[in-house]
Amino acid sequence: MEFKVYYEQDADLRWIRERKVGIIGYGSQGHAHALNLQNNEVDVLVGLAPTSRSRAKAEAAGLRVADLKDTVASCDVVMMLVPDEVMADVYHESVAPYLKSGSYLAFAHGFNVHFGKIVPPAGVKTFLVAPKSPGRMVRRQFEAGKGVPCLVATLEDDPATFAMALSYAKAIGGTRCGVFRTSFREETESDLFGEQAVLCGGLTSLVKAGFDTLVEQGYSPVMAYFECVHELKLIVDLIYEGGLNSMRRMISNTAEYGDYTVGPRVVDAGVRDRMREVLTQIQSGAFAETWLRENQEGGRKLAQFRRDEATHPMEAVGAALRERMGVGAR
Ligand code: NDP
Ligand code: MG
Repeated sequence: MEFKVYYEQDADLRWIRERKVGIIGYGSQGHAHALNLQNNEVDVLVGLAPTSRSRAKAEAAGLRVADLKDTVASCDVVMMLVPDEVMADVYHESVAPYLKSGSYLAFAHGFNVHFGKIVPPAGVKTFLVAPKSPGRMVRRQFEAGKGVPCLVATLEDDPATFAMALSYAKAIGGTRCGVFRTSFREETESDLFGEQAVLCGGLTSLVKAGFDTLVEQGYSPVMAYFECVHELKLIVDLIYEGGLNSMRRMISNTAEYGDYTVGPRVVDAGVRDRMREVLTQIQSGAFAETWLRENQEGGRKLAQFRRDEATHPMEAVGAALRERMGVGAR
C-alpha cells in the first residue's frame, strides 16, 4: 500500500524559526508544543487569560507568557490549544479581532473549523498539526529524542502553508516518527469516530460488560478484573508491536480459537450497524451540536456521568489491585 510519510529531511525548521509563535492555552497539548518549540529555538509566547492557573507553571518552565490578545497581536503563527468546547468563544473574543493579515492560524484538532464554529478570515493561512497522542507523551517522547506521529492538513490547497505545517510538526518532534497528510474533515471525523466507537467509548463499554457479566454470575471481582481489564494492556502492547496476528501467535491456541469463533458473536453485525449510525451522526454535525449544547447548558450531564462512573465497582477493585501490585503509582 502506497502512502507518503514525511520525515526530518522533508521538513525545514527555518519556516517556523523565522516566525513568532503564539501558543494559546497551556494544558495537555499546550505545554508540550510550547516547550518542544522552545527547545528547537523557535520564538514562543504563551497566551493565557490574566487569571490563568497555568501562568506560573509556564513561567517556571522558562516560557514567556502574555495575555491572549497581546499574544495574537504580536505573533505570526497562532496555535489554538484550549479545549474544543470553549475554543470558538475564545477565538471570537480574544483571537479573531487581533489576528494579523497574512498570519497563520493553527489547530491540533479540526473540530471547530470543520464544523464551521471558527471560520478563519480570508488572508489568514490555516493549518492543522494533530499529534496522535496525549500531550504528556508529545513532551516525553521529544525529551527522549523521539517523537509521536502527527497528522497535518491545510484548509486551502497552498504549498507554502503546507511547508509551514510540516515545519511546525518537525519542531514539536513529529517528523522524528512520521507525519501524515490528511484534511480537516478526515482528521475530525475519524478522530471522533475512533474515540467514540473504539478507543474510549467502545473499549470502556466492552470492558465493563465483561466485568459485570462475571461478577453477576458469582465470580470474584478480583478475577473479573484480571481477566477483563488488567490483561488488556498486555494484549494491546502485543497488537501495538506486531498487529493482530502477531498477538495471536503469542497467546494459547485455546485463546486464539476463542478469538475467531466468539469475538464476532459479541461484536456482531448489529454493532457494525450502530457504528455506521454513530459515524453518520458525526458526519452530519449532530454529535458536535449535542456536545456544544451540553457545554452551553453548564455541562450537567458530563458531571453526572463522571460521578456515576467513579462509583462503578470495578474502580475500587482496580485501585486495590494496583496498590498491592505496585502498578500505576505516580
Ligand atoms: P486542555 O484542556 O489541556 O487545555 C487547557 C488550557 O486551556 C489551559 O491553559 C486553560 O487555562 C485553557 N483554557 C480553558 N478554558 C479556557 C477559556 N475559556 N479561555 C481561555 N483559556 C482556557 O486542552 P487539550 O490540550 O486537551 O486540547 C487542546 C487542543 O488539542 C484541542 O483542540 C484538542 O482536541 C487537541 N488535542 C488534544 C489531545 C490530548 O491528548 N489532550 C490530543 C490531540 C489533540 P488555565 O491555564 O487557566 O487552566
Ligand atoms: Mg484522538
